[in-house]
Amino acid sequence: MHCITLIPGDGIGPEVAEATVRAVDATGVAVEWERVEAGAQALAQHGSLIPDDVFASIEANHVGLKGPTATPIGGGHQSINVALRKKLGLYVNFRPVRMLPGLKTRFHDLPLNLAIFRENTEDLYSGLEHEVVPGVVESLKIITRNASMRIARAAFEYARREGRAKVTAIHKANIMKQSDGLFLKCCRETAAHYPEVQYNELIVDNACMQLVMRPETFDLLVMPNLYGDIISDLAAGLVGGLGIVPGANIGDRDAVFEAVHGTAPDIAGKGLANPTALMQSAVLMLAHLGERDAAARLQSAIHRVYAEGCHLTGDVGGKASTSEFTDAVIRGL
Ligand code: NAD
Repeated sequence: MHCITLIPGDGIGPEVAEATVRAVDATGVAVEWERVEAGAQALAQHGSLIPDDVFASIEANHVGLKGPTATPIGGGHQSINVALRKKLGLYVNFRPVRMLPGLKTRFHDLPLNLAIFRENTEDLYSGLEHEVVPGVVESLKIITRNASMRIARAAFEYARREGRAKVTAIHKANIMKQSDGLFLKCCRETAAHYPEVQYNELIVDNACMQLVMRPETFDLLVMPNLYGDIISDLAAGLVGGLGIVPGANIGDRDAVFEAVHGTAPDIAGKGLANPTALMQSAVLMLAHLGERDAAARLQSAIHRVYAEGCHLTGDVGGKASTSEFTDAVIRGL
């Protein structure tokens, strides 16, 4: 029996979380879901965006599945994601970006299989902002050797383990010579220990253009936090949108699995959300828990629904509701 913390979240979060719980339960793996609230719902009910029981639950279970959460814009609230990642030391944000069988996108004829490694704890997400004088605001971009080395190591270790041929470090060290310069230095130092993996570097603006023009030339990408946020959404657009791409936040002790997408307020509560991204995050979670057979079965059930193409949600060109898609995946299992 695995005890897993479940944070349904806000907006479409509860809908995709419910769908994913049904799919994971249908694999036959014994899971006890410990539900805790974080986000706008928790703020309204408990007066806090992340009540203490959220941290306590993940620290006890070591594994969480999280729906997207809304952080009120302005008003001094720290982002829930930033707080969770920093407090639990979830320094790797891993996002595999793959084409799904049968899905028609602008790039469907390309065999895209990218792995994005985003540093998850610092950069402009340090939350250190202040008004210097009225009309002048400063945000601090923090890059440390410690955090840069550990994300670089995680990326190269993955490349070695999974047989990835090339690691590309994304940066803007031509302008941020010291901060991004330090990040690059750490990547180069790490690359020297993995001679079997090809290593190159790209400036972030050029990387965006190349990703759109020649996405098939990329393999594994490693980058600081902000570029990782933006490039993840760009890469999601290559394979069918935000409804697809899963993610994992991983530290030395704990791991929290969540989709790349946000709360999608425009479609929340309508039964239209695509749960694929969170289901594929659950595939990563099952593998992390050592349930490799269940992970493979859930992944191929999702692939089958895409290959058949009859029960897809609106964002990927279908007409099915969240629950119709989920029923089809469960039938496949
Ligand atoms: P978003 O990802 O919520 O939505 C962008 C677009 O993609 C919308 O048109 C939405 O309908 C669509 N979309 C996203 N996920 C989808 C899915 N599963 N199925 C179908 N369509 C989907 O981005 P946003 O609008 O910029 O952000 C909304 C809120 O989400 C903000 O409060 C933001 O802070 C929050 N957010 C949270 C997380 C997280 O908790 N991990 C991540 C990103 C954004």
